[in-house]
Amino acid sequence: MTKIDPSAPLPIPKSMVQLAGVHAQAHPITIGEGHLERQYQEIAEEVQAAVAAVLPSGKYTLGPHLRQFEQQFAAYCDSSYSIGISSGTEALHLALAAMGVGPGDEVITVANTYIATALAITYTGATPVFVDVDPRTFNMTAELTAPHITSRTKVLLPVHLYGQPAEMDALMTLASAHNLLVLEDASHAHGARYKGRKTGSLGDMAAFSFYPGKNLGAYGDGGAVTTSDADLDQKVRILRYVGQRVKFVHEVIGFQERLDEIQAAILSVKLTRLDEWNGRRRRWAAIYDEMLAGTPLTLPYAGAEAHHVYYSYATLAPSEEERTHLLSFLLERGIGGFVMYPALVPMQRAYADLGLHEEDFPVAASCARRVLNLPMFETLREDEVRRTCEVVLAYFDRAR
Ligand SMILES: *Cc1c(COP(=O)(O)O)cnc(C)c1O
Repeated sequence: MTKIDPSAPLPIPKSMVQLAGVHAQAHPITIGEGHLERQYQEIAEEVQAAVAAVLPSGKYTLGPHLRQFEQQFAAYCDSSYSIGISSGTEALHLALAAMGVGPGDEVITVANTYIATALAITYTGATPVFVDVDPRTFNMTAELTAPHITSRTKVLLPVHLYGQPAEMDALMTLASAHNLLVLEDASHAHGARYKGRKTGSLGDMAAFSFYPGKNLGAYGDGGAVTTSDADLDQKVRILRYVGQRVKFVHEVIGFQERLDEIQAAILSVKLTRLDEWNGRRRRWAAIYDEMLAGTPLTLPYAGAEAHHVYYSYATLAPSEEERTHLLSFLLERGIGGFVMYPALVPMQRAYADLGLHEEDFPVAASCARRVLNLPMFETLREDEVRRTCEVVLAYFDRAR
């Protein structure tokens, strides 16, 4: 384990060095901020009614609102069970623990993800094994994963990056050939589909985050596990509440990671809007696709088998320098472009002891240096999406 040393200089990964300069200049952002405030205005009455129903009830944990949301979310995901958890990170952690992952095991995931995917593996005592990704979808593939399978591998953990499901059929075939389980990190992909099937029902288990900015978000932290395996469902339920099935009888070392009643009641309200909101994200993506088609940017590829829900609209600039210049140009004009993710997880100091290098992940490393995410929220307005495109077009016109 790396030591905590708050007085040491920040260990900024190589791919973040240019960006650090861009973000040092502060600009008022007019497009791409305030989306959660707008979202609240859209649903304020229903959210207030949901909270008002919980507060006088005296039941704030593991009550009827959580049970109801779990049933609704499981049904939404075409999954038999859903278990509400305190965060997406803990949903991943408890799913892995329920699968029996522990010290000495390996879990394969992608290098270009949010740190939580890897942390959840590390929390179990297992070792994360990072793989490179498909150059068009930026997702895990069976071809790139197969060479990393060893006798210690227990689970494959693909991430449906930016809202596009990974090629799950090939991953499930690979997993069953090696007796592995598959856990989806569906934190970007609530409501996405692969060959018509919902995320959350594609692997053996799935973990979702309800962080406020996700396609389905709480008013605080939250998450869920979905599965159609009754045994795994029971294991997660026991693990999320101090290892007990019956009060004061502790069968295993469990955790304290429930989703609370207020968040569950609010999530039930928002779940009824999710398809409409994802539809809006897809509309904005179609406008970006159309208006930016002639530019040097590489636009998101959406596979024919994927119903992409655009948690983020991720473009690739031709080079790292161009990314820096375009990002500054956008920010100076009040447009909240940003970079997700600016550094690969194995390049973070937290994982330095794995001894990995950017050269081990050529595609993911190139993405980290060139990716530029444009504003993408259901509460954007069409004029804001078009204005963003016009500024991008102006940048490339000027550069010519
Ligand atoms: C948001 C996210 C998580 C979990 O996040 P929490 O903040 O703990 O809810 C996990 N994986 C990915 C890819 C994410 O984006």
